[in-house]
Amino acid sequence: MLLALIIACLLLGFAVVLLSVTLRNLRTEHAETLRDIKHAHEKETEAARFERDRILNALGDAFLLIDAKGIITIGNIAARRLFDGRKLRQRPLDEIILESRFATPIREALQTGTHVIRKVLLPHQASPEGGSNQRGETAWLVDAAPLDRDHPHEGIRVLIRDQTAEYQVEQVRQDFVANASHELRTPLAIINGYIENLLDDDLIEETEHARRFLGTMRKHGDRLARIVEDMLVISRLESGEDVALNPEPFALSGCIADVTERLEPIIQQQKATIVLNLPDPSPTIQGDRFYWTQVFFNLVENALKQNPTGPLRVEIGCESTAQGNLRLWVSDDGIGIPANDLPFVFHRFFRVQKHHSQGSVKGTGLGLSIVKRAVEAHRGTIRATSTPGQETRFEVNLPPEAHQSAQA
Ligand code: ADP
Repeated sequence: MLLALIIACLLLGFAVVLLSVTLRNLRTEHAETLRDIKHAHEKETEAARFERDRILNALGDAFLLIDAKGIITIGNIAARRLFDGRKLRQRPLDEIILESRFATPIREALQTGTHVIRKVLLPHQASPEGGSNQRGETAWLVDAAPLDRDHPHEGIRVLIRDQTAEYQVEQVRQDFVANASHELRTPLAIINGYIENLLDDDLIEETEHARRFLGTMRKHGDRLARIVEDMLVISRLESGEDVALNPEPFALSGCIADVTERLEPIIQQQKATIVLNLPDPSPTIQGDRFYWTQVFFNLVENALKQNPTGPLRVEIGCESTAQGNLRLWVSDDGIGIPANDLPFVFHRFFRVQKHHSQGSVKGTGLGLSIVKRAVEAHRGTIRATSTPGQETRFEVNLPPEAHQSAQA
């Protein structure tokens, strides 16, 4: 009996030991499983955070999350760049966004819990990325909205978008419309004035007067037509080079011969000398001959037009560069362009001499804009240099794909 009891106790002890070992093993296993799950969860969280940052950093716009207390909780790379590369996370909004024109709409969204969108114009110097040497304005869109519409006071998201490029394009467009209207209005007013004189003052019967008036009207009518034609050419070139261009290989010498032939009467009249400095055989341009003719015509005509008196030497030249580009130039030894005006000569409607004397009709101020756009449509570049009285030079550089040089 006693023996049976002892055996039973031993068995029970053994069972207890076995059970506790099993339990310990189970606990260890459980802890390991928990550790694995925690580890996997941490890895997932880390991967999600990495993915989130990657997406936010891929945004071109500055992005911020700001909590209800005005503390920045997330800021992407664009936001860091915008605010001088400063650390953004866990910093109060007021410490980071010092420009009040940015801070005001953000604070408004935070306080009112509403969606606030504001366009902000800043002088270049005051803009976050602006340098003190830059002029003009930068344009920004600040878009701040609650993160959760059902809980509008629990923090906001902010997007700040740089719209300077679009703003500048719009400014250029507005300037163009204003300048074009002004340029068109002047000859129109002159023509209308003469018509009024002819009709109201009954001058139509006086052949002498009428003829003179009609002559002036025709001159200004021609000018109107030229401005409209030039504006159409610019507009075609700006509509996208592929639409505008009709490229075909052609010999440069033929195109230049056309230009000098068309200008021959003025060349003769002004006793100007045209010097051609072209390689033989002539390089072949891969481009739209219509626009290249216009380029050389405008450049040579400008040289002649700006120097109506006195001897003038105009050189039209071309050579290959070591990089395989083609350098083309038109130079003259006339009055030249003052250094102050030189940076603006390619601007639309720019003229050094605003008013021409001798009653002649002034140029449109669009010739060099057309030249620049035509050259750029062929992937070339153009620059102007001028030492008045010595050399005024317009130099075009064409990449290899836009020509087959004489040596090729
Ligand atoms: P425009 O119709 O007045 O010729 P452009 O755009 O062709 O317009 O030229 C702009 C201005 O640049 C001209 O009004 C002139 O003042 C100046 N310019 C251009 N080419 C020359 C040149 N070869 N010599 C002197 N001035 C020039």
